[in-house]
Amino acid sequence: MIQEKAKEIFDRASEEIGSVSTTKDLYELKVKYLGKSGEFSLLMRDLGQLSKEDRPIVGKEINVLKRQLTEMLDDKQQALQSSEMAEKLEKDRLDLTLSGPTRVRGSRHPLSLVMEEIVDILANIGFSVRTGPLIESDWYNFEALNIPKDHPARDMQDTFYIDETHVLRTHTSPIQIRTMEKEEPPIRILAPGSVFRCDSDVTHSPNFYQIEGLLIDKEVSMAHLKGTISYFVKSFFGPEIETRFRPSFFPFTEPSAEVDCSCPKCKGEGCRLCSHTGWIEIGGSGLVHPKVIEYAKLDSKKWQGFAFGFGIERMAMIKYGIDDIRLFNENNTDFLSQFI
Ligand SMILES: [Zn+2]
Repeated sequence: MIQEKAKEIFDRASEEIGSVSTTKDLYELKVKYLGKSGEFSLLMRDLGQLSKEDRPIVGKEINVLKRQLTEMLDDKQQALQSSEMAEKLEKDRLDLTLSGPTRVRGSRHPLSLVMEEIVDILANIGFSVRTGPLIESDWYNFEALNIPKDHPARDMQDTFYIDETHVLRTHTSPIQIRTMEKEEPPIRILAPGSVFRCDSDVTHSPNFYQIEGLLIDKEVSMAHLKGTISYFVKSFFGPEIETRFRPSFFPFTEPSAEVDCSCPKCKGEGCRLCSHTGWIEIGGSGLVHPKVIEYAKLDSKKWQGFAFGFGIERMAMIKYGIDDIRLFNENNTDFLSQFI
């Protein structure tokens, strides 16, 4: 009788376990059949009605059914837990396919590119970079470069004065003097950097960049200067570009020459960039004035040299066909991102 009832409860429980679909419902089934007031517990109470001999036999049979039911509940519990976890993971999945915020990639400033290219070209023939202060003494900026007070050349350069004896350097030439003072010739250096002049229009900026070159050695001539400049121009603008020297005057060089190159845009035919002359002025040069060599505490009978200087903005404007110098400082990313 009790065995039959136990079997009936067991079969019903198995069936319900088979059809349950959540861990919550499964827990309720567990309470319903195996809890303190569950159906099997109530059944155990009826064991008292049995004879002493039958009680342990029937009790054992019921316990076997209870153990089987417990195992079935545990198995179902595990199965439901893993399927619920999988469902939760599926529901909470991160959608990594959504595109993120766009980040604009930066590019090098055209002046940095031009400066580095010039340094690279001249480094190939033994020149290396030196730097110096932006605020210079009157001595290094003018006097040591053979530009005494009241010299008309000082009018050529509209100077920002810090005080009576200090200026924002108007060129990177002071680095040449400082290097000659410190280093033993032979010297081959480049002096790139910021310079300052009171000047501002479409082709002039109060703060602009220069690169100067200085070579000090024995028996240096204009031929060495011309060879160096010609190599540089062909490397920078192209092998078909010619170089031309025009006599000029600078206090710190003697003889002095303006450097022109054949127009890289029209190849010498004549265009707006070169004012229809076929030539473009790119910088100044000359043999270092013996007085400058002496000011830098070297023996001008033993040592000679040549020097040259280019405006970085001017070189960039010619190379890239830019007609307004102010574009370099406007931080317009449409303009700047063209140069890679
Ligand atoms: Zn031209």
